[in-house]
Amino acid sequence: MIVRPDAEGIRRAAEILAADSVVAFPTETVYGLGAHAFSEKAVGEIYRLKNRPSWNPLIVHVASVTAARELAEDWPDQAEQLAAKFWPGPLTLVVRRARHLPGIGAANDTVAIRVPAHEVALRLLEESGLPLAAPSANRSESISPTTAEHVVRSLPDVPMVLDGGPCSWGIESTVLDVTGEVPRLLRPGALGLRTLRDVTGSLALPSDVADGQARSSPGMSRRHYAPRARAVLCADVRDVDRSGLAGPVGVLTYEGIPGTEILSADPREYAADLYAALHRLDDAGVATILIQEPPHTEEWLAVRDRLSRAAAPE
Ligand code: AMP
Ligand code: MG
Repeated sequence: MIVRPDAEGIRRAAEILAADSVVAFPTETVYGLGAHAFSEKAVGEIYRLKNRPSWNPLIVHVASVTAARELAEDWPDQAEQLAAKFWPGPLTLVVRRARHLPGIGAANDTVAIRVPAHEVALRLLEESGLPLAAPSANRSESISPTTAEHVVRSLPDVPMVLDGGPCSWGIESTVLDVTGEVPRLLRPGALGLRTLRDVTGSLALPSDVADGQARSSPGMSRRHYAPRARAVLCADVRDVDRSGLAGPVGVLTYEGIPGTEILSADPREYAADLYAALHRLDDAGVATILIQEPPHTEEWLAVRDRLSRAAAPE
């Protein structure tokens, strides 16, 4: 059920969370499927509804840096500086987990935390008083939701979805491991590397993205963020032989390249519309989506990561 996030809506959502059930709510990145992060029952409900593999850990959302520190065994200087600069915001920090807390998913002795920059998310965190695990509110592997309607379509059994309108970033948070000497990028996301380096200095990148390329071999990347249609990345959509492709064929491009779905040539604006565009193409009933590959530059890293996973074979 889609609910307005007024005082009454937030109060009812907090009640559901206190009863170890789940509520979908908006964040600035994508809609999250929220549950009490340290309740085995509540977290189990997330994994069941999403059909999420048990080894995939969850990000814990909290309302403040103080609340984040309580979940950590130690709080490195890097975490302090990054949190001061980017929270609330689309940056997730992986730190050592406080010993009294149970692990979530397969994460051994760490916990991933962020403070979301969305008024509704923050009000819900405050009203419930709980740290909330909140992975994207969609079935595992499929396209992340950036509107309340996307959530209901992917997860019709969720008891409540707070409607905060479309998400402003529209792509998941950047995940950074700050347990070592040099911060290590675990997942490219909304917050760009250049902005991060202003605070961290050097950053360790996974070898497969270090040169600014998305996953070099599609076979290596797990399928994720995928539409129902088969997604095919093309160096140039204009000279693709379509004879062997299942139809109807949809085309996703960006400014300067004429096509059916045209996104912005600015990577931030492109990211904000990407999932909605994939949802629209699925809704239009296409069997194949040809996707114009964005440039191989660092600003496009997060978008290229999502596109290469969307196009990974089943
Ligand atoms: P999401 O699916 O958006 O909730 O993001 C979860 C992602 O955060 C995972 O796929 C991991 O990349 C990362 N993550 C969460 N917790 C941890 C952790 N304890 N250690 C390393 N990465 C984590
Ligand atoms: Mg997800």
